[in-house]
Amino acid sequence: MSLVVVGSIAFDAVRTPFGERARMLGGSAVHFSLASSFFTEVSVVGPVGDDFGPDEYDVLAGRGVRTDDIEHVPGGKTFFWRGHYDYDLNVAHTDDTQLNVFGAFEPKLSEESKAAGSVFLANIQPDLQLEVRQQCNAATLVGLDSMILWIETARDSLTRAIGAVDLVLMNDAELRMLTEQPNLVRAARDVMAMGPRMVVAKQGEYGAALFTEDSFFALPGYPLEEVVDPTGAGDSFAGGFLGYLDAVGADAVDEQAVRRAMTYGSVMASFNVEQFGTERVQALTRGEVNRRFEEFKQITHLEAVPLDLRVTR
Ligand code: AMP
Repeated sequence: MSLVVVGSIAFDAVRTPFGERARMLGGSAVHFSLASSFFTEVSVVGPVGDDFGPDEYDVLAGRGVRTDDIEHVPGGKTFFWRGHYDYDLNVAHTDDTQLNVFGAFEPKLSEESKAAGSVFLANIQPDLQLEVRQQCNAATLVGLDSMILWIETARDSLTRAIGAVDLVLMNDAELRMLTEQPNLVRAARDVMAMGPRMVVAKQGEYGAALFTEDSFFALPGYPLEEVVDPTGAGDSFAGGFLGYLDAVGADAVDEQAVRRAMTYGSVMASFNVEQFGTERVQALTRGEVNRRFEEFKQITHLEAVPLDLRVTR
């Protein structure tokens, strides 16, 4: 089993009501790979510049993430994103995006990555997502994320990319916008009509909902008392979800496995937001992951008991 992610590798500057960081390791592929590394072998595809040094590589290598397909562009600068959150931590406000080495990025996958069983096309320009999808012929599970920017500026490309994947993970507002459908259930159906067999609607602190052709499953967000920085929560969710399913293996993916994948996604997202950037997931242990999974099991457990009704109507 192995998993490949293509997406941004970044330096982020983030301000939240609880503090700020002027420059920290980030990017969708970084958050995704750190989270999925708890479940399977994962390889990152994406470009970096000269400013991406041994300290940054060490964070990924420290969790066993394969970095061979990270392309170092000599003389280039790494993708940079600056954003802030006000008291509604579900809404990220972008203040600056510098594409830098991403501007001329042409994904080149090693033979090993092309042979991966699972692929995550993190939030990048949808034509690039499709190019990577087409290079990964062996993949039996391909997931995709996107954002409002691409819905607004590259809708046709995004529709083509969605048509080539098995799973779409997007924020519920993005799903509604993409399908021009205010009802989330119908929006998910419309996305499945484009090709994918599963749709996950991420709902920030409220959790996530999973739609398939014939089933529905939803989980609340983990009830955290302190959320410090939500950046990367969506990618950490996707990392837990796809990392777990890759570990299970395509043949064993059934309704129960997908529900566990939703739970591991929620577990990884909930840890990610406890500290800035990658800080919390870098320090995370397997025991903590397992314990939070058990807590989710209890939170969502329901028992039916016979009800002795006093009313007859
Ligand atoms: P999220 O999981 O949605 O919070 O993703 C956060 C990550 O997305 C940050 O670490 C950013 O570096 C990255 N990001 C922000 N804008 C873009 C963009 N336009 N393209 C690719 N990655 C981005």
